[in-house]
Amino acid sequence: MQQQNLPVSEELAEEQSEPPSTLRAAQSPSTCPTENEPLCKKLSQWNDWRWQIRNRIRSLDQLSKYVPLLSGRYELQKVIEKYPMAITPYYASIIQRADMSDPVFRMSVPNIQEMFDPPCLSDDPLEEHQDMPVPGLVHRYRDRALLIATTMCSMYCRHCTRKRIAGTRENAISARRMRQAQEYLFNHPEITDVIVSGGDPLTMSDAAIEAVLSMLRSVPSVQVIRIGTRVPVVLPMRITDELVEILKKYHPLWINTHFNHPNELTDEARAACAKLADAGIPLGNQTVLLRGVNDDPQIIEQLCRGLISTRVRPYYMYQCDLVRGVEHFRTSVRKGMEIMEYLRGRVSGIAIPTFVVDAPHGGGKIPVLPTYVVSMSPTHTVLRNFEGLLVSYPEPAVDMEPETTATSSEPGVWELVSGKADVILPARNQRMGRREKIGAKRGGASSTGYLFDA
Ligand code: SF4
Repeated sequence: MQQQNLPVSEELAEEQSEPPSTLRAAQSPSTCPTENEPLCKKLSQWNDWRWQIRNRIRSLDQLSKYVPLLSGRYELQKVIEKYPMAITPYYASIIQRADMSDPVFRMSVPNIQEMFDPPCLSDDPLEEHQDMPVPGLVHRYRDRALLIATTMCSMYCRHCTRKRIAGTRENAISARRMRQAQEYLFNHPEITDVIVSGGDPLTMSDAAIEAVLSMLRSVPSVQVIRIGTRVPVVLPMRITDELVEILKKYHPLWINTHFNHPNELTDEARAACAKLADAGIPLGNQTVLLRGVNDDPQIIEQLCRGLISTRVRPYYMYQCDLVRGVEHFRTSVRKGMEIMEYLRGRVSGIAIPTFVVDAPHGGGKIPVLPTYVVSMSPTHTVLRNFEGLLVSYPEPAVDMEPETTATSSEPGVWELVSGKADVILPARNQRMGRREKIGAKRGGASSTGYLFDA
């Protein structure tokens, strides 16, 4: 049966006009992409999200105009045919180098490596299709569901987990499918939290977004609505006052966005996030760990610091899924662990995301952490901090079993686990050095307690 699309499809079906004339190093409101037009018209066009969508770079010919190195690379045509390309003029404008060493270029421009897949990859490694009781609604965790509201995005990320869907057809959810999803939610009151995702739901028209949100609010058991969107990153002008007025009506509503690199935290992106935060919408960020983009502890630190200064809480850092077409983006799990080890103690806890592997076969998100518990006994737990300090935490007396006798005269983990010592410090620990100086200034003794050379 023919799908009845929401208003977005017609609105977005307008013919493409000419793309911007250059890929500029940095876009500011005082500059404009098109030539030979009055500046004010150019700026109002640039800030019009529909203009941005109409003018996305979609073909190899368009792309070659801005990246001459790619002209004649006909093999990329096959990549685009398999995995569609779309780059908003805005996102193209924040490319700083027109090659794969630039993170924004790498995330948006097709790469021939997308065609080479080892056998461990699949189209739908999270097996979302198998957890869809009705088309477009994924029900995996007992109390949560995910609604795929559209297959369209303003920019098609080359690392997308839903490459099998995103951009294959640019359709919003049909009225019939909305009714099916609504009926399922009514019949499953255990679902209290629905994530609206896609594609990117905020590429839909205001009317279509409101239709989805009001459908969800019509189900009394749905308490929380979450929206997953990359629009603040790749199309920040979409966060209009009108859209924010609509979103505000459906609280409690949360938004998770998808910044992967500090270069994406432009003034425009920050302003879009500020509008959402000012409307009382809590913002989280889901980063994907990507080779050649952000697989560097200092890049992630810079990103996380930038996010919290933008009022966006780093929420998840994902290990790249086992999706066809993304092998060249995959890093080892060890790289993620290394980044987590680096962040702890260096940045505030609110700036540290949870590193997760979204398990193949629909196993859900598995948090992966460096090991901080070194040993345990009935009386004490030995913990390690970010500096390598080993410390003993005494268990409550009520839970203790009779004390065991220590067998070693040298201080070690056994002394900690049996309560004979309470800390082992790494030698030349800077923090304790500072404490000693403070203690000396105050005329007191060292407060370091047990100091053993590790
Ligand atoms: S915005 Fe999200 S759904 Fe769309 S291409 Fe990027 S990662 Fe995929």
